[in-house]
Amino acid sequence: MGILDSKTPSGPLADKWTKHKNEIDLVNPANKRNIDIIVVGTGLAGGSAAATLAELGYNVKTFCYQDSPRRAHSIAAQGGINASKNYQGDGDSDYRLFYDTVKGGDYRSREANVYRLAEVSGNIIDQCVAQGVPFAREYGGLLDNRSFGGVLVSRTFYAKGQTGQQLLLGAYSAMNRQINRGKIQSFTRHEMMDLVLVDGKARGIIARDLVSGEIERHSAHAVVLATGGYGNVFYLSTNAMGSNVMAAWRAHRKGAFFANPCYTQIHPTCIPVTGDHQSKLTLMSESLRNDGRIWVPKKMEDAVAIREGRLRPIEIAESDRDYYLERRYPAFGNLVPRDVASRAAKERCDAGFGVNKTGEAVFLDFASAIARYGNEKAMTSGIKDPDKATITKLGEGVIEAKYGNLFQMYEKIVDENPYKTPMKIYPAVHYTMGGLWVDYNLQTTIPGCYAAGEANFSDHGANRLGASALMQGLADGYFVLPYTIGDYLSKDIRTGKISTESPEFVEAEAQVRERMQKLMSGTGIHSVDHYHKKLGKIMWNKCGMARNAKGLEEAIKEIAALRKDFWENVKVTGTMDSKNQELEKAGRVADFLELGELFAKDALHRNESCGGHFREEYRSEDGEAMRDDENFKYVGAWEHMGEPKDAKLHKEELVFENIELKTRSYK
Ligand SMILES: Cc1cc2nc3c(=O)[nH]c(=O)nc-3n(C[C@H](O)[C@H](O)[C@H](O)COP(=O)(O)OP(=O)(O)OC[C@H]3O[C@@H](n4cnc5c(N)ncnc54)[C@H](O)[C@@H]3O)c2cc1C
Repeated sequence: MGILDSKTPSGPLADKWTKHKNEIDLVNPANKRNIDIIVVGTGLAGGSAAATLAELGYNVKTFCYQDSPRRAHSIAAQGGINASKNYQGDGDSDYRLFYDTVKGGDYRSREANVYRLAEVSGNIIDQCVAQGVPFAREYGGLLDNRSFGGVLVSRTFYAKGQTGQQLLLGAYSAMNRQINRGKIQSFTRHEMMDLVLVDGKARGIIARDLVSGEIERHSAHAVVLATGGYGNVFYLSTNAMGSNVMAAWRAHRKGAFFANPCYTQIHPTCIPVTGDHQSKLTLMSESLRNDGRIWVPKKMEDAVAIREGRLRPIEIAESDRDYYLERRYPAFGNLVPRDVASRAAKERCDAGFGVNKTGEAVFLDFASAIARYGNEKAMTSGIKDPDKATITKLGEGVIEAKYGNLFQMYEKIVDENPYKTPMKIYPAVHYTMGGLWVDYNLQTTIPGCYAAGEANFSDHGANRLGASALMQGLADGYFVLPYTIGDYLSKDIRTGKISTESPEFVEAEAQVRERMQKLMSGTGIHSVDHYHKKLGKIMWNKCGMARNAKGLEEAIKEIAALRKDFWENVKVTGTMDSKNQELEKAGRVADFLELGELFAKDALHRNESCGGHFREEYRSEDGEAMRDDENFKYVGAWEHMGEPKDAKLHKEELVFENIELKTRSYK
């Protein structure tokens, strides 16, 4: 078991980042022109990094598998982005954002990184406003804020329910300026198939042109992976269908350690699964928990009657409703962190109080908010003694202004009007806190290979608080990586262009071709999706919201057997040297089949419950997660040794000098 060096700077917490920036090496502007950087992934993390690096003067090549950076999965982000601006004057500060994030992650993140995140959070908002991102504003013109889970302040900036899309338009515009200047060469519909190492350093990638099927070699002095999360290992998730682990996994196989793979976020407010026909789940943003109240019937007979369609939720009296989050967690109520809210929903549904046909749904109800806003609006509009219909109409107008697009999306999918009847929601896989291990500079264990955004193991510990992923991705891309990568590249100013004709590139390309050939040569009858669905079922049932040693041991065996079957029998139609989406999927699922096993192995070794990692054996009497700080206060980073079962664990012991380690409580 090795020990990892996080390269965290010394000194007081609040001075570390400034001190580090002052001390690291820089590359002068003239030399930057001679240095090439590959950025794989142009979502918020990669797009912001590419634009900033090019603005600084580096030559950047970007890669994404979509037809435009505009279509990265980041576009789906709905609710908002955090920053400690304290515009509400409600007591926010960098320290409080730092504290909330470390506590929210159940004390499994690196203090120095999280403090830096809080420190640059305000800059992100300024940067995005300067780009023209249309954040919501209050009547007086100031930027508006709302609240997200696990915090007692309002620090979430938002653009209706389309925050990710608007931020991505900002980053994409910044990229376009550089594309126009010739500083970014943008390769869309290109997939990174492998990382190329020369003398132990990341010096390029092998990519496939997804339209022509051609295999290409691209070299650079450093490679940044900003390729998103791996929630789709569960098959069903709120992630975009194409989200995958291939780039990170290929780097892992080349020597980048993979940290905390088992830390997955299961989001409490998603549209419930309806059957086996689905390939995608839909999120109802956490922002809805600002105004929506979550409940199930108090009486079992009411729950049964609702499931059987004999009773409607609006017919159940207030006194017969169990607002279980408000009951169990009075201080945070409906805005407890996601892991806590998800487990509480599962607990009620497992106890038989679920409210849809499958028994796996709870209500998210806006009736109180509609009445509250309606009354307020009537008062501010000078309407005296308004009747119920007027109040409802006014209240619905306010709700529509805040969450209109989310309500419309719900109605389109479910065919029920959520203004009139409560939404039905259930937890679903949403985000992965695990990822490539990086040091304070965002460098992986491969020199010259960096990871940003959801692709790295990030600052969120064992559970991410809402609206923190956009903050982290943009912090990495706009404000951290552009500094820290210079320290590494300062040693490369005399290296000159990296040749793509070296034996390392030749061999990497040959390996990519061989792997594709192998994928095409399966003689069985099952499609790639068949295997992906099977993997997803194992993951959800045995590595999902609750895990135990027996289930995890079974999962490890079952995934290994499924992987063997896949490689022998998968049927991939089409050809290798043309556009072939089945082949694309096959490559991605092959990597999920390895990652899934490592995920289970990681979950099995972590004999504690923390954040999204809930081991049934380790819980308190009232069902809360029970950490074991004595034995597991570390980041677990896995080194590839051939098969996932042989992966070797390395530990980065977490040091808490500024926050007292406590039992996490939201009561
Ligand atoms: C429905 C939904 C709503 C969300 N809402 C919020 C929110 O309100 N607030 C918040 O903070 N977070 C939210 N999140 C989380 C947040 O959106 C993501 O964590 C974040 O956008 C990830 O950004 P990224 O840049 O790291 O990755 P992505 O946006 O996923 O981008 C990945 C990029 O990598 C490229 N790529 C991947 N693999 C390869 C490869 N092999 N070769 C070439 N290119 C590759 C893709 O083409 C893409 O350009 C939400 C997530 C979901 C699913």
